[in-house]
Amino acid sequence: MIPGQIVFKLVPLDAMRYPSAGDWWQEDDGTLIVTAVATPEDPRSALLVQLHELHEALFCIAAGVSEEDVTRWDLGHLDSEEPGESIGAPYFEQHKAALLLEKFAAMRMELDWDDHEAILARALSTKSQNTEACTGPTDVSIPPASE
Ligand SMILES: [Zn+2]
Repeated sequence: MIPGQIVFKLVPLDAMRYPSAGDWWQEDDGTLIVTAVATPEDPRSALLVQLHELHEALFCIAAGVSEEDVTRWDLGHLDSEEPGESIGAPYFEQHKAALLLEKFAAMRMELDWDDHEAILARALSTKSQNTEACTGPTDVSIPPASE
């Protein structure tokens, strides 16, 4: 469904549906929710994650890749640093395209890519004090696809 509205949320790590720098899903009315972990060290990193997730979501919607398939894949590859880059990921192409845009935007914002990745790694290893959960589907108990 083409989103009629897009909502960006900047959240602490423990408010993400699962440990990840960014996430997206659509509400029943089509509203696209894009979340990114806050990166107080350099806000540009969170902006880049929002940009990545937004484009990945739009590319997936355009290609008919469902958020459920993406989430199922991610949950089945939680040990992976970048599940979208794993062979067989249902959103492999969409992730790669979003990554290109993210890299272009990082260059445009004059944020070194290695620095950006290091900032995200630190943001993902920091436990936040904020326990206020992000409003959104929390049913992350989708069983892994049988293969
Ligand atoms: Zn991605």
